[in-house]
Amino acid sequence: MRLDKYLTTLGIGSRTQVKELIKKGKITVNGEKILKPDIHIDENNDEVDLNGVNLKYNKFYYYMLNKPAGVLSAVSDNNCKTVIDLLNVTPKKGLFPVGRLDKDTEGLLLITNDGELSHNLLSPTKHVDKTYYVELNGDLIDSDIELFEKGLDIGEKNLTKPAILKILEKRSTALITITEGKYHQVKRMFQAIGLTVTFLKRLTMGPLKLDENLKPGEYRKLTVSEVEALL
Ligand code: URA
Repeated sequence: MRLDKYLTTLGIGSRTQVKELIKKGKITVNGEKILKPDIHIDENNDEVDLNGVNLKYNKFYYYMLNKPAGVLSAVSDNNCKTVIDLLNVTPKKGLFPVGRLDKDTEGLLLITNDGELSHNLLSPTKHVDKTYYVELNGDLIDSDIELFEKGLDIGEKNLTKPAILKILEKRSTALITITEGKYHQVKRMFQAIGLTVTFLKRLTMGPLKLDENLKPGEYRKLTVSEVEALL
């Protein structure tokens, strides 16, 4: 694609404005200053910077939501409020949640329009770990740690992959880290040892940590370093 067309597509400015930026030497491609608007770039592989800032971040949007209970991890729904309904951002079109939390689950949900990143985070082959805080209807015992480590039968073809269970001081609460994302996985794992999850909140996903300042229902843009850690 022509460089000037690429820049207008990203919403940097009109064709005339972006030509002006190029003429002033504000644009680099792969670190090299480019002064001609009509050179062709490979928009998927070339690094195009404006004033030293990579423009990739203008094309994609990344938000961290502290999902409250009672809303659906979906883009739209006829009957129920969705996580996208909670966002008051522009542009909103194209945004979707990366994976799902159950309606009654709270916590970290990444919302983006970056399909490739989403695919990478959700792909079973990438083993991205997710940590949840759980409250249960009964106490855990030390030997449960080994059961989670060895894998549990949750009615699937295979046992669950090794999970890390950390029993907290109040023994009916714990942190659990899993690398899979099967339907109701955490609830089914505790069910397999005879306990019911009464509260579930996701705290981390790969390198991303839920910002403790976000109350349920609140969200913020990811910082550049958070995005870089994910890519
Ligand atoms: N495991 C569950 O059971 N529910 C969730 O929402 C996420 C993980």
